[in-house]
Amino acid sequence: MSHTDAATTSRTSVLVDGQLMLRYCDSCHASYAAWLSICSSCMAADLTLRAASGHGRLNSWVVYQRQYALPFDLPVPYTVLAIDLHEGPRVNALLAPGQQMASLRRDLQVELDVDAASAAGRTVFRLAESNEMSA
Ligand SMILES: [Zn+2]
Repeated sequence: MSHTDAATTSRTSVLVDGQLMLRYCDSCHASYAAWLSICSSCMAADLTLRAASGHGRLNSWVVYQRQYALPFDLPVPYTVLAIDLHEGPRVNALLAPGQQMASLRRDLQVELDVDAASAAGRTVFRLAESNEMSA
């Protein structure tokens, strides 16, 4: 991968048709956020961009009561999640608007909301239905 590619890749999540993309190392099978271009395990520079599983666990979250430096309008309050993807990388995402009042706790299973992400052009996750069975 060239320096140009790394420089033009945003340091945010990359979505294609609502799918969250990650970089994968074909040499050692490590995975990374899409804006990284070199494998820190084996130093390979030919990471492949592929869709993530869309599943992860909630690590942390912040509830914004007012708009905060976002270039788009969101009804407040809104919640920004830190999610540990099953593939390994940690990504930030919005909580699906319909789940804003949900009771959050660490390690809840979350899944990519492809429709909401497509509509918003942002990474949106929702609580997985499997949480209700274990609650
Ligand atoms: Zn590697």
